[in-house]
Amino acid sequence: MFVNNISLQHYRNYEQLQLDSFGDVNLLIGQNAQGKTNLLEAIFVLALTKSHRTSKDRELISFQGESAHISASVEKKYGPLKLDLTLSPQGKKAKINGLEQRKLSNFIGSLNVVMFAPEDLEIVKGTPGVRRRFLDMEIGQVQPGYLFHLQQYQKVLHQRNNLLKQMWGKDNGEPGMLEVWDQQLVEHGVKIIKKRKQFIIKLQRWAETIHSGITNGSEALELVYLPSFGDTEEEDEAYLFDQFMIKLSQMREQELRRGMTLAGPHRDDLAFYINGKEVHTYGSQGQQRTTALSLKLAEIELIQEEIGEYPVLLLDDVLSELDPYRQTQLIETFQSRVQTFITATGIESLNADKLKNASIFRVHEGQVGS
Ligand code: ATP
Ligand code: MG
Repeated sequence: MFVNNISLQHYRNYEQLQLDSFGDVNLLIGQNAQGKTNLLEAIFVLALTKSHRTSKDRELISFQGESAHISASVEKKYGPLKLDLTLSPQGKKAKINGLEQRKLSNFIGSLNVVMFAPEDLEIVKGTPGVRRRFLDMEIGQVQPGYLFHLQQYQKVLHQRNNLLKQMWGKDNGEPGMLEVWDQQLVEHGVKIIKKRKQFIIKLQRWAETIHSGITNGSEALELVYLPSFGDTEEEDEAYLFDQFMIKLSQMREQELRRGMTLAGPHRDDLAFYINGKEVHTYGSQGQQRTTALSLKLAEIELIQEEIGEYPVLLLDDVLSELDPYRQTQLIETFQSRVQTFITATGIESLNADKLKNASIFRVHEGQVGS
């Protein structure tokens, strides 16, 4: 898909903006704090109706404005779409081709984007929680059923933990109640584990190829799922069910002592290896960044597989951090298939020859010129 143009009203530091004639590769160049990330964020918000940076919509509305408005026309395989999104303290309103959508879920997915921003480095460097959030967001985007099981799991987990806390230090706890929660925890947990396993296998396939391309074949990237129990490969639900139940009974005493659930997908992790060495521990900054980037770029292919069309790629402050060879490989990987928006503080930090034909937009104090 292809974003033809965008207009913003009262969005962050943009009071009024109308931008036309986007190209395949678009460079947004400007000094710090001028509005480069805000512009990428606006495209992201139009796709997902929420920001990658904040959960508070109020922050997206300009200091002077009462409601923010984003609209764009998007070229898709089956024709053009005009998308409109209004954010106000009362809520969100979304229109497709002028028709208001009663459910936001009907609007989400009209435009698909993949964003890569500096904070995504945390997927590699950060805590297991960051990696679980990454998995949940990505799987949720391509498989809506996943989020249902995740929500149910979290609800049951919360209640089970409360019960464990109540039983803590008491002899008269009611193990019968715990078994009711066990059953539900395991039912939803197994679905989550199975989908994570399947997703990681697909992601691995693409990430490995892309990473090898960006590094001229010198780096073999490997993703390893680290479930909190059992082996990595097995996908059979009945088998996983039994394994999870056995694990819970093994942990029972410890759980009662500590007052919390100690096994399950809420304790899963994901590890990355380059040429057999763990990236978290041994990788250089550039390798860690390239690993995170390869994961995000793999998502582009997964979305294409799932919906039959390439998403739009948003690269915030990442290209200038890569060496010229990696920059060139990155641009070439998706050239003429994936429309790309790239921010940087200066054009001189972008060395790839391929960028010579890019459309350049200069961002200055909430205004954009070419
Ligand atoms: P950098 O190179 O440092 O990443 P940037 O060009 O990406 O800079 P942005 O993150 O887009 O900068 O932010 C630009 C400015 O937008 C900031 O100075 C910030 O104060 C301002 N800003 C953020 N939210 C709002 C808002 N709701 N209303 C008005 N201005 C805002
Ligand atoms: Mg920025």
